Amino acid sequence: MTRQNAQALDARDPLASLRTQFALPEGVIYLDGNSLGVLPAAAPARVAQAVQQEWGEGLIRSWNTANWVNLPQRVGDKIGRLIGAPPGQTLAGDSTSVNLYKVLAAALLLAKQQGDPARRVIVSERSNFPTDLYIAEGLARQHGFELKLVEPEQIAAQFGPSLAVLMLTHVNYRTGRMHDMAAITRAAHGCGALALWDLAHSAGAVPVDLNGADADFAVGCGYKYLNGGPGAPAFLWVHPRHLERMEREDLWQPLSGWFGHAAPFEFSPHYRPASGIARFACGTPPVLGLTALETGVDTALAAEPLGGMAALRRKSLALTSLFITLVEARCAGHGLTVITPRTEGERGSQVNLARGEGAYAIVQALIARGVIGDFRAPDVLRFGFTPLYTSFTEVWDAVEHLRQVLESGEWKEARFNQKAAVT
Ligand SMILES: *Cc1c(COP(=O)(O)O)cnc(C)c1O
Repeated sequence: MTRQNAQALDARDPLASLRTQFALPEGVIYLDGNSLGVLPAAAPARVAQAVQQEWGEGLIRSWNTANWVNLPQRVGDKIGRLIGAPPGQTLAGDSTSVNLYKVLAAALLLAKQQGDPARRVIVSERSNFPTDLYIAEGLARQHGFELKLVEPEQIAAQFGPSLAVLMLTHVNYRTGRMHDMAAITRAAHGCGALALWDLAHSAGAVPVDLNGADADFAVGCGYKYLNGGPGAPAFLWVHPRHLERMEREDLWQPLSGWFGHAAPFEFSPHYRPASGIARFACGTPPVLGLTALETGVDTALAAEPLGGMAALRRKSLALTSLFITLVEARCAGHGLTVITPRTEGERGSQVNLARGEGAYAIVQALIARGVIGDFRAPDVLRFGFTPLYTSFTEVWDAVEHLRQVLESGEWKEARFNQKAAVT
């Protein structure tokens, strides 16, 4: 595999044109779209319009004239197209952590409604992203549940009468390993439990079919593969059977704020939940954040005429496979271990390497060369591949930089080994 081969792959990449949707800085190979997606070229003008016209000129009238009121639903429905959800099931707004609080609390409520006091266990992965575990830990304390953390190989052994909710992140942030959502959800339902999925590293990166998998609840992140910008609003999804049941049995999600009220502008002193997904809203939607997020979601939807998520998945697997092959061929003997599964069906859109010593410094040395990946404690070098804009030539070049960093030993310099407070 030569650089010319990689260039040839780019020349016949049917998705190559999607890259023009982004304002990528010169001289940077960006392999961190799984942490903060890049700026959509349309975002600055669209956000400026929202600020200057909608806010500046329209002022309060823009809640109606610019349809600010419907932004959470409109952006939610667009995200729904990427995750197998028809309109009316997905809501954009709040952070992933807050959305997880709302849907996990609803799941615990539904589990309690079954009336079986022995069904009080939430199971998750020990290596799940910490905020998910912290939210679950807090809710478990509040509601008398036990949070049980297991290794991925132990999940199959958790399906039993005590399992209330299985809460998993579809693609693991540290290993890049992807779960079989449909099979695990089926097993959870088989023992009477609910399945809640975090799509932070999936939405916009790998195909997701929430309805096809018959999932119960989901949340996901706006600033990663959806390119919504720093601190972008996140999203949540609830299966319609639960929305209907919550309505029938008058069950509330815990953050019963006025935007989730059936008639917020009646200013009634009593809460009455809206029907449908709107009952999962809380306060006033973050209009500017949602406006930027919409431009990001649109960059992924632009792939629809080119084959959509299936085509993006093909390219993502080709990128990650190329990276693995090149690392093993060109960086052999330098102590790197590929910790992301080689089986394509088990891989998300990132490749993570472990190295006993120097992982942090090697990432810093790469960043100094303009190759931006990231480090995850204690020993992981993490590289995200975004099929919307990452090219095969960039993969080749990134591995060449990695090879040079390792061969030269430049990562051992003190300036790369000094850990910054925030990375
Ligand atoms: C990125 C990520 C989050 C982020 O949560 P915030 O509330 O936006 O800080 C949550 N969960 C997972 C699994 C993530 O990867």
